[in-house]
Amino acid sequence: MSNKTVDVAIIGGGFAGIGSAIRLKQQGIDSFAIFERGDAIGGTWRDNTYPGAACDIPSRLYSYSFAPNPDWSHTYSGSNEILGYIETMAAEFGLGPHFRFGHNVSGIAFDEAAGLWEITIDGRSEAVRARAVVLASGPLANVSFPNIRGIEDYAGHKIHSARWDHDYDFTGKKVAVVGTGASAVQIIPELVDKAASVKVFQRTPGWVLPRVNRRTNAVTKELYRRVPAAEQLARQAWFYGHESVALGVVWNTPLTRVVELVGRAQLRRQVKDPWLRRQLTPDFRAGCKRLLMTDDYYPALQRDNCKLITWPIARLSENGIRTAEGIEHQADCIVFATGFDVSKTGTPIPVVGRDGRVLADEWSRGAYAYKSVAVSGYPNLFFTFGPNSGPGHNSALVYMEAQIDYLVSAIGAILEQDLRILDVRKDRQDRYNAGMQRRLTGTTWNSGCRSWYLTEDGFNATMYPGFATQYVNQLRTVDLADYTVVAADRNARKPRIAAVS
Ligand code: NAP
Repeated sequence: MSNKTVDVAIIGGGFAGIGSAIRLKQQGIDSFAIFERGDAIGGTWRDNTYPGAACDIPSRLYSYSFAPNPDWSHTYSGSNEILGYIETMAAEFGLGPHFRFGHNVSGIAFDEAAGLWEITIDGRSEAVRARAVVLASGPLANVSFPNIRGIEDYAGHKIHSARWDHDYDFTGKKVAVVGTGASAVQIIPELVDKAASVKVFQRTPGWVLPRVNRRTNAVTKELYRRVPAAEQLARQAWFYGHESVALGVVWNTPLTRVVELVGRAQLRRQVKDPWLRRQLTPDFRAGCKRLLMTDDYYPALQRDNCKLITWPIARLSENGIRTAEGIEHQADCIVFATGFDVSKTGTPIPVVGRDGRVLADEWSRGAYAYKSVAVSGYPNLFFTFGPNSGPGHNSALVYMEAQIDYLVSAIGAILEQDLRILDVRKDRQDRYNAGMQRRLTGTTWNSGCRSWYLTEDGFNATMYPGFATQYVNQLRTVDLADYTVVAADRNARKPRIAAVS
């Protein structure tokens, strides 16, 4: 047996992993390691550095309430600033010694007799053991290149939006962009400024809504610095503003028509050409796919050097993209803004629980969990951004903070009460998920469009069908009655060693 044991192993050094670490520390739990496969922190905000990368949720709300930042430069900050916020937080809370960079966790398995998770790391013969694991690897970590015929034949330059090549000079180049989702609409306005020509290959037009981005003036920053309550008030105002949007975005209601009216008005105002307007008009309910918040996407599409292509892509050729009607669109570079490989029917790494059960098998038709954070049969293991925790209308960080506070309480119980097993009861989990799927049938996400929220069979393992307030409330307390609880045999406990190299 390994002598390398920590109380908590956190897998992933992104927003969720860092938030979990801070809250553990604040609870006086210091024996933890953050395993990060990359060589820097920040997760999706480290990876998404494409030109124009920003968050379409206001920064005041896209931040942790326990780490307010009075200095956000704009209503909606760019990826650089968000990454800076994450790095500052990690430094201020003294997380440095807890990071294990270049540690790619290749699997975890539960040793029931010892009540310990065994964490296997690529290239290391010895596993690390932990009393609890936080799986914070994030849903948007692995890029997805589309399954288009001939993709290997293309001889030009290929760039994925989440792995930007900053050395590539777009000046004077013929560029093709595949995809028109949340990343693409931020990239395209930047590319048209540089490239000789930009062809945008659209499969499905999305709902585009205005995003009014303002610089935060010095007086406001000073106010937030001196009166933190004022900043909290601003955050609350944004929070409830977004909550009200749920009425039109999460469920199909008369307010959905209002959202669609706003989208249509923006289209009419910004696109005068009726043909182009028709090509850009969505044919699904607003909210079914992620809303696109941007003011400069439609104007960029109408620049002289930009062209929207709506013919389906037939294949890639050596020189570019061939569309279904037989035209070859030559390109020096293809930008794939085609999203992420989100595991909804498996697990990001092999997870072996009690009695050798394998979580990927149990999730083969779609992931599920209890309140998105715990899965029966996999004790002392907690998920951030787990099944059915995705927001369609509010800040992901509000959801994440609720998950973190819940899992930190549960881990606190494991350590304080010296528990060997804290395993959510299957009957509670089943009841929770039956309710979840019933509630999802009435949501816009399940109203008939194709999105990364659904499995191939249309099972929604991703989104939470309600208000953020409901989600947060259900995670306010850890009720041990929801769990099978087994105390540790005190004599069998091995000494804990905080340092893991
Ligand atoms: P995405 O939303 O999954 O969009 C992928 C785009 O690529 C879609 O337009 C899709 O078309 C298209 N596509 C995929 N495969 C294709 C193929 N074979 N042929 C042609 N087109 C293809 O990916 P994303 O834009 O990177 O965004 C992913 C998620 O990241 C978002 O939902 C959001 O959660 C997050 N994000 C957030 C922000 C933010 O500001 N907060 C910004 C960027 C990303 P279809 O629509 O037809 O499938």
